[in-house]
Amino acid sequence: MIKNANSEEVFKYSILVVDDEKRIRDVTQRMLTQEGFEVAVAETGETGMKMIEEKNFDIILLDLMMPGMSGLEALPLLKARHPYTVVIVITGYATLEHSIEAMKKGAFDFIPKPFSPQDLRLVIFKAIEFIRTLQDIANEKSRIRVLINELSGGVMATDIQKQVVLANPAFLKMINYFGESVIGRPVADIIQNEKIETMIDQVLTLPEEKFSDLTTELDLGETVLSVRCIPFRDRLDRNLGTITVMNDITTLRKMDQLKSDFVSMVAHEIRSPLNSIAMQIKVILDGLAGDVAEKQQEILTRALAKIKALGNLSTELLDLARIESGLITQEREKVNMGKLLMEQVAFYQEAAGAKSTQLALEALPDLPPVLVNRQNMDEVISNLINNAINYTPEGGKITLSASIENNYLCIRVSDTGIGIHKDDLERIFDRFYRVKDEKTRYITGTGLGLPIVKSIVEAHNGRLNVESEPEKGSTFYIYIPLITSSEL
Ligand code: ADP
Repeated sequence: MIKNANSEEVFKYSILVVDDEKRIRDVTQRMLTQEGFEVAVAETGETGMKMIEEKNFDIILLDLMMPGMSGLEALPLLKARHPYTVVIVITGYATLEHSIEAMKKGAFDFIPKPFSPQDLRLVIFKAIEFIRTLQDIANEKSRIRVLINELSGGVMATDIQKQVVLANPAFLKMINYFGESVIGRPVADIIQNEKIETMIDQVLTLPEEKFSDLTTELDLGETVLSVRCIPFRDRLDRNLGTITVMNDITTLRKMDQLKSDFVSMVAHEIRSPLNSIAMQIKVILDGLAGDVAEKQQEILTRALAKIKALGNLSTELLDLARIESGLITQEREKVNMGKLLMEQVAFYQEAAGAKSTQLALEALPDLPPVLVNRQNMDEVISNLINNAINYTPEGGKITLSASIENNYLCIRVSDTGIGIHKDDLERIFDRFYRVKDEKTRYITGTGLGLPIVKSIVEAHNGRLNVESEPEKGSTFYIYIPLITSSEL
């Protein structure tokens, strides 16, 4: 019998015993009834077949040797009608071959005659275990089906031939599909979108040892979807198909745009009055509005420095907002990065010298030009050199170098400065994040420099890495993709 979590009886397993020997029928029925099963008996194959027409049994104990319809004849009919019924054949010693044949025809197990109550109990409980496993799988399947159907995200699975094997209602709604069932149909029939088809193709050809997902964004005009495609595999890591998950990120995108617009507006509105305050203070400091006492000069100089810092903040906020809205990287040209590095290093010599810091560019190999926005690249390098100067105590050394690494131009900015603790390394690229400790206490900044550098590099399909050790120094690596043959 089946018990629920509170060990209460929920329903009984039903067993049908088909045997022409009355003794076997009686003993088996008595014993199994005592074990809590619901037991029915039939004395011929024909009666057994009639009984299964009317009722579905969990287990059938079937004698192979019976006058009239034998067990071997009944078995295929029975399996055809109730494929999930577990059949155990009862056989005499002499008919071992028959029992093997019966197994081939779909019997679950066999029990040779004569059998003890213990033998019978063992074989029945083994069958019950099997039924429970089947039931668990069926329950799990139905649970997953309900879950996937109720998800607000879209889910679609395909087989290796790119035919749809599952698509939940959210998915169909996102791709605006309201036709007939999609199961078994080629993906291309349902989604006429090259990006998704290419993604599915790429995922299906991922080698066994590589398990990764591909992501993209689909701008369908009114809606923006984020799409993720993952392979699913068998035990031996062979590709069986793909799963595509979609999320509607339209609102997120709109909010992001609103936020950027708001930041731009505020930064812009602050910048002009700040400039005019700075100019007025400058007029006083220059003595154009009368004599200024030493103490007043000191206070006004400090105020001017704070105003400049605020001005920097608003400029960086504006830059970030512009980069995020994708405006800044639109114009790209072939740029000789070696020359750009030389110019930047020359420009910062004075600032570095003022801190007794050595700033040098290592001898460069021949570098091909890269396709970038020149102003952006100036900003990236200048930010990194500026940071290196700021966070390197007097007497330090800053070195720039560049080389070709695979298909990238790699630029390194190294310093022998205060370094960055491991816990902070991941966060220094977050907006407004600044390391706060004794060493950085008197260094001013906005916490926007590195986020700007990162956004620019990523907008150029590049990568930004950092390696750092406290007290020893830091190295920032910028990777910019080289020009491909189609861009030449
Ligand atoms: P900030 O305006 O504060 O310099 P950034 O975004 O450029 O803002 O940098 C974020 C933080 O990362 C800095 O506050 C500093 O703590 C740390 N940092 C950046 N560059 C370096 C460096 N070269 N050496 C040590 N710390 C650095």
